[in-house]
Amino acid sequence: MNNTYDVIIAGAGPAGSSAAIHLANHDVRVLLVEQKKFPRAKLCGEFISPECLKHFERLGVKGTMISASPAVLTETVFYSRTGHGLTVPSKWFGGGALGLSRAVMDNNLLQRAADAGVTVMENASVAEVIEEKNQVRGVRLNVDEVEREYEALVTIDATGRTRALTRRLKSLPQNAAPRPKAKLVAFKAHLEKTKVAEGVCEIYSYPGGYGGLSTIEGGVSNLCFITAARDVRRCQSNPEVVLREIVFRNRRAAYALEAATICSEWLSVSLESFGRQSPSPLNGLLAVGDSAAFIDPFTGSGMLMALESGELASQLILRHLPSLRKNLSFTTLATEYSQDYRRRFDARLRISSVLRRLAYTPFLAEIGIVLFGASERLRNRIARATRSDSKGDQSSLERVKWI
Ligand SMILES: Cc1cc2nc3c(=O)[nH]c(=O)nc-3n(C[C@H](O)[C@H](O)[C@H](O)COP(=O)(O)OP(=O)(O)OC[C@H]3O[C@@H](n4cnc5c(N)ncnc54)[C@H](O)[C@@H]3O)c2cc1C
Repeated sequence: MNNTYDVIIAGAGPAGSSAAIHLANHDVRVLLVEQKKFPRAKLCGEFISPECLKHFERLGVKGTMISASPAVLTETVFYSRTGHGLTVPSKWFGGGALGLSRAVMDNNLLQRAADAGVTVMENASVAEVIEEKNQVRGVRLNVDEVEREYEALVTIDATGRTRALTRRLKSLPQNAAPRPKAKLVAFKAHLEKTKVAEGVCEIYSYPGGYGGLSTIEGGVSNLCFITAARDVRRCQSNPEVVLREIVFRNRRAAYALEAATICSEWLSVSLESFGRQSPSPLNGLLAVGDSAAFIDPFTGSGMLMALESGELASQLILRHLPSLRKNLSFTTLATEYSQDYRRRFDARLRISSVLRRLAYTPFLAEIGIVLFGASERLRNRIARATRSDSKGDQSSLERVKWI
């Protein structure tokens, strides 16, 4: 069996699949490795921002996404604890947003990757990263309890917030330090009989966190909320107790969810940190999606960043592949990717971190909602700044041309 590829991508979320499809469309030999079997549920607000549709079109999945009958979300309303609302219309970002489960969305992308010629391995997890002379050469995979080595010119960490590849690098001294304790925990479930307004993504602020409720395919609602880990411990880690004790402190949440019934299992994850990590942690390895940066979920733009960074990485790999095939240095690709990554994403990560301070403190959230509510112009500018600095995006796109 030939275990050598041009590119190995670990993680088949939107970032990994996006990179894989773009590369395979240009006849690059890609191995996409996913630890789960798709379709699988995933903790997420399941709010697909309008800009993602352009990506779906370029990836060849717009039709399958639309035929899954997603809900169309025309606005997001941020509710303060006392019930003040601030509306952000989806048209500011180019049209309606979609409400579609991650089980369906991610599976559509994975199937498209396979159709485009990507070698897809599910139920396969990365056991080790192969490092030689400070350069990543591929991965050692665990498949059906058998370990096997796979080599590539470029390896991509698309494993989401876990950064499973980057964290396994022996050459990175910071990996020897103990991981900080997570201060936040997120929960998610699908619900029936909610009173969420039709076509609206409702966001609720409460002490120590916030939650989002919106409709997905089949008329079901997706509820996803973040709370302080200490509150979760106080509620014996029971999501329904957390919901009643903490989330229901927001009046609108209590109203919209009072008669709701759960129709899926609860999922939970702990959240360690937000913001940017290294987009190119070591020669031979690039990071995309949440592995490169985790933007605050209230922006509803994590999946957009995942799709965008997957595309950006693939564009640069395509440009540098001829020289990598001649065994030339990886450094130029790593430097260009890091620079373009920063140019494209740093501004929105910064503004999101400022807004985070408001979001987690109810009295500041209350003041912010009243303040931003008074000026549509200000609201529009801030909302758009969490997505893209359009000038920055254009200049970096102009510089990175398809081969
Ligand atoms: C509470 C919360 C709510 C959110 N709500 C929204 C929202 O409404 N809208 C939005 O746009 N964004 C939202 N996000 C952000 C969004 O979920 C992420 O930005 C997005 O999923 C990132 O995509 P990704 O491909 O980088 O990683 P992921 O989607 O996390 O995919 C990573 C994949 O890698 C696989 N994997 C992990 N480890 C390994 C391994 N060792 N080997 C092989 N495979 C592995 C995983 O199984 C997974 O399938 C939310 C995030 C949170 C935490």
